[in-house]
Amino acid sequence: MPVKRSDKTPMPERDAGLRAHDFLEVNEGFDMQRAMFEAERCLRCQDAICVEGCPVRIPIPDFIHAIAKGDISEAASILRSANPLPAICGRVCPQESQCEERCHMNNRFNAAAIGHLERFVADWERGQPANGGAPKPWRDEKIAIVGSGPAGLVCAGQLADMGYRVTVFEALHAAGGVLRYGIPEFRLPNSVLDWEIDVLRQRGVEIVTNVIVGKTIALDDLLENMGYAAIFIGTGAGLPKFLGIPGENLNGVFSANEFLTRINLMRAYESAADTPMKVGKRVAVIGSGNTAMDTVRSSLRMGAEQGLIVYRRSETEMTARIEEYHHAIEEGVEFHWLTNPIEVLGNDEGWVTGLKCQVMELGEPDESGRARPVPVAGSEFVIPVDNVVLSIGTTPNPLLLSSTTGLETDQWGCLVADHESGRTTRARIYAGGDIVTGAATVILAAGAGKNAAETIHRDLSAAGEAAGP
Ligand SMILES: Cc1cc2nc3c(=O)[nH]c(=O)nc-3n(C[C@H](O)[C@H](O)[C@H](O)COP(=O)(O)OP(=O)(O)OC[C@H]3O[C@@H](n4cnc5c(N)ncnc54)[C@H](O)[C@@H]3O)c2cc1C
Repeated sequence: MPVKRSDKTPMPERDAGLRAHDFLEVNEGFDMQRAMFEAERCLRCQDAICVEGCPVRIPIPDFIHAIAKGDISEAASILRSANPLPAICGRVCPQESQCEERCHMNNRFNAAAIGHLERFVADWERGQPANGGAPKPWRDEKIAIVGSGPAGLVCAGQLADMGYRVTVFEALHAAGGVLRYGIPEFRLPNSVLDWEIDVLRQRGVEIVTNVIVGKTIALDDLLENMGYAAIFIGTGAGLPKFLGIPGENLNGVFSANEFLTRINLMRAYESAADTPMKVGKRVAVIGSGNTAMDTVRSSLRMGAEQGLIVYRRSETEMTARIEEYHHAIEEGVEFHWLTNPIEVLGNDEGWVTGLKCQVMELGEPDESGRARPVPVAGSEFVIPVDNVVLSIGTTPNPLLLSSTTGLETDQWGCLVADHESGRTTRARIYAGGDIVTGAATVILAAGAGKNAAETIHRDLSAAGEAAGP
């Protein structure tokens, strides 16, 4: 426990030396004493600008005040009224650049630990008995949701609460999107995700897996032949980018998506896995976002002795959550900043043996506003490695969008939709999350799903009134 109220109450976590070799959760969560102590640090400001930093606008001071009173049941209902995925967001949201960044405590001390408190309340709720059966939908209209990531799940939950019949169609054999196949167990256990999804099912959401909309069934069929009144597209941005450097086709090179999916979804780390994966002694991960940190830390848990991050910019431009970065350092990950890979080297059998890199220096800001990395002449060197994993970004998969007409996309292949309302360029089709913004965050996707649900309800209600009795 901390001794000073100016300090954020630290999250208890498992020892780095132990946890770096298994997939059990790193953070252990607050107990009641820590939660109440931390809740007392909240200033309950009149101008609660922390709420403005939250895309789903959780009434943050209210739920924290309920914790301080010891009424966790009240805290849980306040939280859930705004955020249908609190156990997930409490674990993975980048609070330091959202709600906690705005916290007035930041002016002199550390922000209140809003994310840790959110997790505490959701975990308490998880320990309570389930709330009976699903309410019966009381509206006639059916809504189809394509994709079961946070955008689709939140949209589905909100619409089910408004009385609609909601079906989520998911391409994979399990629901959750990146929460399932991308973010590893040691940050977000599947049991937590399963519970959040079960809560949605109890609220009446139907989830159908193994259906690729655009292939198994056509998007237009949903509207024209299957009786859906509206569709929300939340299919994410799951198509990996590659560098286009020599050697990328060698054995032992992966995209981070494939690497993490094989571990998380296909459970490659279990001895009886259908598709086991062999990880070498030295794994280089190219990139510096959350995906890169998850990949390099997973590689250690898969048996690698050395996990390296190779990034062409500096630590300042790194985009990962600060907590993941600290955990990666504690677990022994090595960081090669200002290092640009230019070739993957291999042996005669076609397996990776090394990564040829050049040293970079930072120049003037580029179009992203970040300092542009510039190669230093004659600085090439080789890092001996057995695997190279590319984590340099993703784009939307074009399959769904190319299977229909009338949906506009932008120059990056993202679906054009209004960020506030979720309306696309086709009537009755709405969208949100990574498919619209490009790879972003869980809470932005959740916020987009929530906004679109409200618009769908408004539009259908207006259409119903226009049609008359
Ligand atoms: C490894 C990793 C770690 C991350 N860590 C964090 C983090 O710590 N914090 C954070 O805030 N964000 C993090 N993110 C980003 C965050 O997970 C995403 O921004 C978020 O999941 C996007 O949600 P979404 O609902 O738009 O799409 P997704 O989560 O991508 O879900 C889309 C779903 O649609 C399905 N689908 C696709 N096409 C079809 C189709 N044609 N028919 C049916 N289903 C389809 C997919 O199978 C998938 O299940 C991370 C991302 C990755 C990859």
